[in-house]
Amino acid sequence: MSNSTHPIIFGSPRLYIQGVGVLSRLPEAVGSLGTTPFVVVDAVVHERLATQLHLLGIREADIEIFNGECTAAEIDRLASRQHGDVIVGLGGGKAIDAAKGVAMARRLPIIVVPTAASNDAPTSRVVVVYDDQHRLSEGRFLPFNPDVLLVDTGIVAKAPPRLFAAGIGDAISKKFEVELSVKGHGVNMFGGRPSHTAMALADACYRQLREHGQAATEAVRKGCVTDEVERVVEANILLSGLAFESGGLAIAHSLTRGFAALPETVGTLHGEVVAFGLLTQLILEGRPDAEVQDLIGFYRSVSLPSTFRGVGLTDPDSVTLRGIATHSLTAQYIQRSSNVFSAASIVDAMIRADTMGRAPGFDQTVPVH
Ligand SMILES: [Zn+2]
Repeated sequence: MSNSTHPIIFGSPRLYIQGVGVLSRLPEAVGSLGTTPFVVVDAVVHERLATQLHLLGIREADIEIFNGECTAAEIDRLASRQHGDVIVGLGGGKAIDAAKGVAMARRLPIIVVPTAASNDAPTSRVVVVYDDQHRLSEGRFLPFNPDVLLVDTGIVAKAPPRLFAAGIGDAISKKFEVELSVKGHGVNMFGGRPSHTAMALADACYRQLREHGQAATEAVRKGCVTDEVERVVEANILLSGLAFESGGLAIAHSLTRGFAALPETVGTLHGEVVAFGLLTQLILEGRPDAEVQDLIGFYRSVSLPSTFRGVGLTDPDSVTLRGIATHSLTAQYIQRSSNVFSAASIVDAMIRADTMGRAPGFDQTVPVH
């Protein structure tokens, strides 16, 4: 399949602001888009930031606590509040996605304020909707990317280090996924051809993480914001988000589907599965063992998993692995790519990744919670 008839499509937020204390710019951002905010926030984040929000002039009446899962019913409930004319998504990936769902339903602008650098969702227009059993049920798409992103590094650096590591896992795969997507004439999340801009961003993302990932991880463990932390936060959120959405995804991300369908992996983070998925992808692509081992060494330095156990599976049997592979192949971006991998070859690659991950000198532990 050739996608030469597809136009290049590239999307991004209108404004991205990152730094210590930038939450204070929220009122100004709301004022630039409307008059009254409707803030969708995680319960724990609300507890942590309520005083700060009130000091910024955000009233309790402008705030609605997100119930924890981004379901169609939850989006409907939040949208039915009919409060405000600027939606604000404040918290983790699911709260942000629920807020995006509300903005989409009410056709209003949206400001995204992530409180962890744990995944690639904040910059994108994608809304991942789950069912009541926490299984992926559908993807919705805002017509455009979020209007404004406020990434307060002072807040993000104090999130649990495991979330920061997961963000690195989610971001480091982009270089390889965009490359495979381009090679297979895949289409990006806008249904267009991946641009050279997206490829350059994915490459820059990888380089920042490899150069500064370990130092940033150590700083975050101490709750410090250093230059390395700023670089990795930018890679985890901005570079990673732009790269996947305008570049396309491949095997590493498709595996998150298969894993998410298993009850054992409920406690595993998106970026942790993507990290393991990337090892699987590199093996499937036939890359040299040294390249895979080099990446496993990096994972170890930033506390990312490289074994089945690390992603919540203890000695999975062949039926379970086959189920993961089959489910993963249903991802639309895989089906629209000309890179053809069978379920059996994915199973073999996962087993090989786990074996390499368990080899002496490499990560054998579950990440620190
Ligand atoms: Zn992702």
